[in-house]
Amino acid sequence: MSKHTIEANPVGPINGSPEQNAYMEELERQLTVDTEKLIDIKNHFITEMIKGLNKPNHTLAMIPSYVEGRLTGEEKGHYLALDLGGTNLRVVLVTLEGQGKFKTISTKARVSDELKSGPMRNLCDYIADCIDTFLTEQNLGNVDEDLALGFTFSFPVLQSKINRGILTTWTKGFNCSGAVGKDPVLLLQDALLRKHVPVKITALVNDTVGTLLSNAYQKPNTLAGLILGTGSNGAYIEKMSNIGKWEKENTTAHEMVINMELGAFDNERTILPLTRFDNKLDRKSINPHSQIFEKLISGMYLGEIVRNVITDMMDRNLLFTQPGQSTEAISAHYQFETSFMSSIEADGSKDLSTVREVLDTNLNLTNVTDVELRIVKRICELVGTRAARLAGAAIASIAIHTKVDRQGADFGIDGSLYEFYPSFESRMYTALAELMPDYADDIRNIIRLGLARDGSGVGAALTACVADRMFKTV
Ligand code: ADP
Ligand code: MG
Repeated sequence: MSKHTIEANPVGPINGSPEQNAYMEELERQLTVDTEKLIDIKNHFITEMIKGLNKPNHTLAMIPSYVEGRLTGEEKGHYLALDLGGTNLRVVLVTLEGQGKFKTISTKARVSDELKSGPMRNLCDYIADCIDTFLTEQNLGNVDEDLALGFTFSFPVLQSKINRGILTTWTKGFNCSGAVGKDPVLLLQDALLRKHVPVKITALVNDTVGTLLSNAYQKPNTLAGLILGTGSNGAYIEKMSNIGKWEKENTTAHEMVINMELGAFDNERTILPLTRFDNKLDRKSINPHSQIFEKLISGMYLGEIVRNVITDMMDRNLLFTQPGQSTEAISAHYQFETSFMSSIEADGSKDLSTVREVLDTNLNLTNVTDVELRIVKRICELVGTRAARLAGAAIASIAIHTKVDRQGADFGIDGSLYEFYPSFESRMYTALAELMPDYADDIRNIIRLGLARDGSGVGAALTACVADRMFKTV
């Protein structure tokens, strides 16, 4: 069994005090997205996709990626990839071998909070140094020709060419000064030049687009790529004729990859069933009122939503009320990590020993009662299930909009949330079956979800490769 198919072990009845039971029933009501609501959300999502394709600066940005056409799996060569936008910075040397095969060598570096919110120049200098060190280690520091690099920059970018774009806003905890409204390729290329690093950035890649391409290299029937990690996003292959806002020079391509920037879906808050726990998270986030959908479905936030419920119950004397209970850790923002939810949901033991251990080890919560263990597990189930169902609605929207038929399509998904969260995939399939009733009998063979490993690394290399191909055909 692969990791992304590990199933959760639902908790039984809470059997708490009448007040605790009543609270949990009300919580369940608030956090449950039933079929009817999910259909409404899906319909609104498709409407928003179409609006975004037809007018600039719409909430669902539907950004043309400039990546044209499809892959055959026969592409070959050496390329560098750089991945910025998550927890780590990654530099990857990719060797494409054809027949869908490739080799990679990579290095990782942490991006400190100081770099994430300091001047963009410091961040670029740091990245250039990381690349320089990696090339030296790989004996590539003195090559004749600059190495082509695909730059995976996983933030909303208005692209004007395959290797040019403007950062519109930071997300996911980044907030460097001197970057919004500028081209991250030029800023980084400048740092590379200053430091004499022999690398030319030939493609600016969103990780979601890269995920799509890396999946397509091995599965040519790939329709979309999704990210379900720190943040959330989607990209899919759209017909040029459907991109009403496309005003650039005519391209001979029939299709183009669209970076949806779906994390911003419903920033207007017209359809999503937001609770006070979500509102609190948004209000205290670094980017209030934006990325509302992302805040309901991605790794950076799910644990914090759970924590908001837990602290609300604590405030009402419904949880962790034992005298001397240490509540300092659980009271601090973002101390309840989404990975805890994975461990908690997977716990199938009678005495919920894993839940107990997670709370004890990570949050210093001791002498927790059995009722409290069940309550915490139930909160995780509700928040995790809602996330998976909403993510499923986004996938259904892509499939329905592009008229996927019984032949089906492949969807490559990258991200620790999809990979490690128990039942995330099966909950998405449940939602998909509800939203695509005609295909419910065979949903797993029609909407073929699968882990797209190393999407941002290999995908960026493949984009650099597509960029080459496009430059050669003009
Ligand atoms: P990124 O999105 O930064 O490229 P990942 O795909 O690894 O990187 O996603 C990291 C996010 O996934 C973190 O925000 C974390 O909350 C979440 N995460 C990490 N491990 C797990 C896990 N075991 N279960 C659920 N979520 C996880
Ligand atoms: Mg990633």
